Amino acid sequence: MAAITPDRKIIDILNEKKAAGVKTCLSLEYFPPRTEEGVKNLYARMDRMKGALSPLFTDMTWGAGGSTADLSLELALHAQKTGHVSNLHMTCTNIQAKEGEEDVDPKKAIHDALQAALDGGIRNIVALRGDPPAGEEEWKASEGGFACALDLVKYMREHFGQEFGISVAGYPEGHPNAISEVADPSTLTEAEKARSSSFDGKTYCCLDADYKKEMDYLKEKVDAGSDLIITQMFFDVEVFKTFVKDCRKWGINCPVVPGLMCINAYGGFKKMTKFCKTRVPADLDAKMDSIKDDAAAVKEFGVEFGVKVCQDLMDSGLIEVLHFYTLNLEKVVYGILDQLKLSDNALALVNEKDAASMVAKGSAWARVGDEVTCEHGKGVVDELLPDGSAVIVISGKDDKVTMAKGAYQKVF
Ligand SMILES: Cc1cc2nc3c(=O)[nH]c(=O)nc-3n(C[C@H](O)[C@H](O)[C@H](O)COP(=O)(O)OP(=O)(O)OC[C@H]3O[C@@H](n4cnc5c(N)ncnc54)[C@H](O)[C@@H]3O)c2cc1C
Repeated sequence: MAAITPDRKIIDILNEKKAAGVKTCLSLEYFPPRTEEGVKNLYARMDRMKGALSPLFTDMTWGAGGSTADLSLELALHAQKTGHVSNLHMTCTNIQAKEGEEDVDPKKAIHDALQAALDGGIRNIVALRGDPPAGEEEWKASEGGFACALDLVKYMREHFGQEFGISVAGYPEGHPNAISEVADPSTLTEAEKARSSSFDGKTYCCLDADYKKEMDYLKEKVDAGSDLIITQMFFDVEVFKTFVKDCRKWGINCPVVPGLMCINAYGGFKKMTKFCKTRVPADLDAKMDSIKDDAAAVKEFGVEFGVKVCQDLMDSGLIEVLHFYTLNLEKVVYGILDQLKLSDNALALVNEKDAASMVAKGSAWARVGDEVTCEHGKGVVDELLPDGSAVIVISGKDDKVTMAKGAYQKVF
């Protein structure tokens, strides 16, 4: 096997590992933290996690609407220099004009960012359309820019040839834009039922006809030159297995890497699953509700659940890589991998005292449903006001207080 150096493509290393009999590799995803202190702490954490887990590759996300463009690149380059096989996310809404700058040519901005990544030795890119920037509901293409991830993949192959390994996103339950509310759930087919979700008494599903369009489009993204699919988070392994089998039916033969969201906190889990309309099996939902007030029990359960999911995936023979959305935290990831014997007492290395500094750049200071502390005690965010202040319901009291941005802190 050739040396695994950071300037190699993921797909080449993965193929070599498979040929050498390695069954399961790991990969880790991080996001750019908001503060300089957070960045410093993240560097230390990435180093620790690399030492403990030897990930095949390390992803760095690109902030919604290009809000963290410079920092994402800086972090991915740092990862590259410190021995990670860096997999930099890049979206079609790439870079915002800086103060004093004229409008940015969106294609040139993306080209320049790709060139800077390549010049710094990065050989792996996740080509994405991107989410709308904070505060905006719908994603809009910039004028003269790319309309979707497929355009970006085509552009990269046209202008950069085979310099980059390319990953794209896949959605086992359908992309959220293709998931609609179902008026009468009794009309759903068995396949639709299996990927449907329910929130607040409503049922949502990517209907068969829309799912077919999603798969046709995914095939186009892969045929345009993608090497790898990394999936959206899921909590029902059966949905993922069906998705991989469907990929094969559609003639999509590249590795499909499951994106594993670690369960670290009740508020975050609820918020994210509702936002993405993710299917949450009834027993998982009930379990989470039963421990919602016990942060330590949620983390413990996060490990137990993660172990079950990973074991099921490995037993299925459908995967080669377990990709962890770390949320820039390590305890749950180590807990899962130690129990699976994919790491050796990594938990002994945990240092999450700095967890409060791992808030994403560009994100709100807290979101509705988050647990926070302020001078009045612990509470839960009930409403966020446009200036960043939060209406907080203080625990054990009926009182609501409004606290300015910075006067309340998220509890981790
Ligand atoms: C693994 C992973 C990593 C991510 N990382 C980031 C990140 O770092 N930064 C960030 O901002 N967001 C990230 N996202 C979120 C992602 O940007 C959003 O989900 C976004 O809404 C869609 O991106 P995409 O690349 O899947 O889009 P696309 O592949 O462009 O698809 C989006 C939707 O449009 C439809 N569509 C688009 N073009 C066509 C067409 N020509 N024909 C038919 N249908 C079409 C697709 O079927 C799909 O429903 C990530 C998502 C995943 C799964």
